[in-house]
Amino acid sequence: MALIVQKYGGTSVGSVERIKNVARRAIKWAEAGNQVVVVVSAMSGETNRLIALAREVQPEPDPRELDVVASTGEQVTIGLLAMALKSMGQPARSYTGFQVGVHTDSAFTKARIEAIDEQRIRADLDQGMIVVVAGFQGMDAQGNITTLGRGGSDTSGVALAAALGADECQIYTDVDGVYTTDPRVVPEASKLPSITFEEMLEMASLGSKVLQIRSVEFAGKYRVRLRVLSSLTPWDIPLEQEMRSGTLITFEEDQNMERAVVSGIAFARDEAKITVVGVPDRPGIAYQILSAVGQANIEVDMIVQNQSVAGFTDFSFTVGRNDYARTLSILKNEVQAHIGAKDVLGDPKSCKVSIVGVGMRSHAGVASTMFRTLSEEGINIQMISTSEIKVSVLIDEKYLELAVRALHRAFDLDAPQNT
Ligand code: ASP
Ligand code: MG
Repeated sequence: MALIVQKYGGTSVGSVERIKNVARRAIKWAEAGNQVVVVVSAMSGETNRLIALAREVQPEPDPRELDVVASTGEQVTIGLLAMALKSMGQPARSYTGFQVGVHTDSAFTKARIEAIDEQRIRADLDQGMIVVVAGFQGMDAQGNITTLGRGGSDTSGVALAAALGADECQIYTDVDGVYTTDPRVVPEASKLPSITFEEMLEMASLGSKVLQIRSVEFAGKYRVRLRVLSSLTPWDIPLEQEMRSGTLITFEEDQNMERAVVSGIAFARDEAKITVVGVPDRPGIAYQILSAVGQANIEVDMIVQNQSVAGFTDFSFTVGRNDYARTLSILKNEVQAHIGAKDVLGDPKSCKVSIVGVGMRSHAGVASTMFRTLSEEGINIQMISTSEIKVSVLIDEKYLELAVRALHRAFDLDAPQNT
């Protein structure tokens, strides 16, 4: 008998009818001989509504109290789902994160899970129940309610699967798996039957929004087998068909299958580039620039420093577009004065396009194919960064779609996937 943790997102539980379908689907898995734990999000739009309410009372809500409010959406869903299950004759029980014992640190609104007590859940499973657990929430050592950050139910699901030693964690969403790229940009994009964990981590951190990145990190750390599935398929399709309809996130690279060199193209819109021009080339400069930015809680992504000429160099990096104006003014006001740079320039209209694939490790020339493809389209590369399984470029945002489409074609992703 397998133990399965299924997580359903907000859209999947967005109405009473959908909650009933989640119940039917979970019962289907249980009747096939599996023990089933279901983790749910709040009904779609609910968390936004709760946070907006809090802001009406206090524009910058007190983080502890905000978590008290924001965590309630999930409590509604677990109760409704457990009722639906029971009304269908399936023994079930719902638990809040607090009742289970999802222990977190005290970082309100972005808490991290530290441990989970799984005994209660296990006892219920052994009695043949489907256990329904609220995602997104936990409690700290003082018993305060905490939440895990937006999209945090994915992490709840994976963490529960890890704590229970589940055979699989199935994440049901409103997309039916992980695609070679966003199908809204490239209609020829196809669903990947499988993707390695490392690739998924890159795709998630590069802007593919299928899974919360922290949940992918968690799955990697605890080696939880993850599967992304669509909750929009009819609930009564056969199990094998349902499994085939999603994407399995694997730990093994060699699955005895013909793999593409590049598995996917990820992109992030809304990037901005900052260049500090004419920086004296001496120890501590990069630290000075980036610590000024870091102190303002601005996240820096790609960083490039040029070879210095006559003791001066240019230092460029990217930030999210929302942070662009703030970054520019911090550097103009403070750092420029202190470090004696000549100027601070910026371009708020950039985007990042990345090719990702474990196949790159064993294939030379992947980066040059990327650069050739972009040059053939007349697209100028502003910055480049690489890792073992990824090459990213920063380009003008007006070329985003063109670049993604051209790369998708150049790396043979337009063809149907054979993995
Ligand atoms: N309901 C929470 C949110 O909207 C958590 C989740 O859906 O994963 O962020
Ligand atoms: Mg979600």
